[in-house]
Amino acid sequence: MRCVLCKATHFSVVHRFRKCTRCNLVQVVPMPGAEAIAAFYREDLKHFDPYIAQRAVHRAYFRKKMQEIKKLASPSTLLDIGCAMGILLEEAKRAGVNAFGVDISRDAVTFCRRKGLTASQTYPKRRFDVVTAFEVIEHERDPVGFMRRVYKLLNKGGVVVLTTPDHSGIWQKLMGRHWVSYQHPEHVTFWENESLRYLLTKSGFSNITVRRDSPRPFPLSFLFTRAADYFPWAAWILKPIGRVLARRRIVNPINPWDDLLVVGKK
Ligand SMILES: [Zn+2]
Repeated sequence: MRCVLCKATHFSVVHRFRKCTRCNLVQVVPMPGAEAIAAFYREDLKHFDPYIAQRAVHRAYFRKKMQEIKKLASPSTLLDIGCAMGILLEEAKRAGVNAFGVDISRDAVTFCRRKGLTASQTYPKRRFDVVTAFEVIEHERDPVGFMRRVYKLLNKGGVVVLTTPDHSGIWQKLMGRHWVSYQHPEHVTFWENESLRYLLTKSGFSNITVRRDSPRPFPLSFLFTRAADYFPWAAWILKPIGRVLARRRIVNPINPWDDLLVVGKK
């Protein structure tokens, strides 16, 4: 078995995953086949329910990201890979940017189109000033192939913006095998600063920066209701606590969804 990032063959054990001793990428070994991966996505809109419930939080987050992107690149066109419910597309449009979305989920694409957004299950045959992929790279069984495609989708001087859960962050250390990002069967790779830089360099990007992303301001109640999804055996206690907190509208002081934000230039 070879590392999906650097092709090395030596790994150390990290819970039920393997960490490449050369490039530090934590990954599922052996990587599931394309069919097994596709099966993770054979689901209805229901898996977007927690996302839709926290739409205001995601909107606030993406509005901030659009401001940052405008400062970085002042784009006139943007492609959002993994556009989900199209919140970033709406915020891009609002900021005067011509925005296109791509998503593996047909339901997501239908949802976006109904809102008058431009979205497709296939990549458009044109180039963009900015390509974004929020919480996508950890789903890719061929991350280098994915990033090389992103590179081709960019105009010269164009900018890529990625986010992914931080495997070297404090929450991974505190939660160990219970870390939230490990709980998604569709997450097949786990990233840190060094492996992300290596990925972008290998795919042709320059001017690479990796930094801690600003957190999404989830209410504290959401932490408990989401935890009940991750730990169903504790739902009987987590859900009532979540309901009590929801009535009190307390903003979450802790954020186990800590992400890294990566920027690279073509
Ligand atoms: Zn490697």
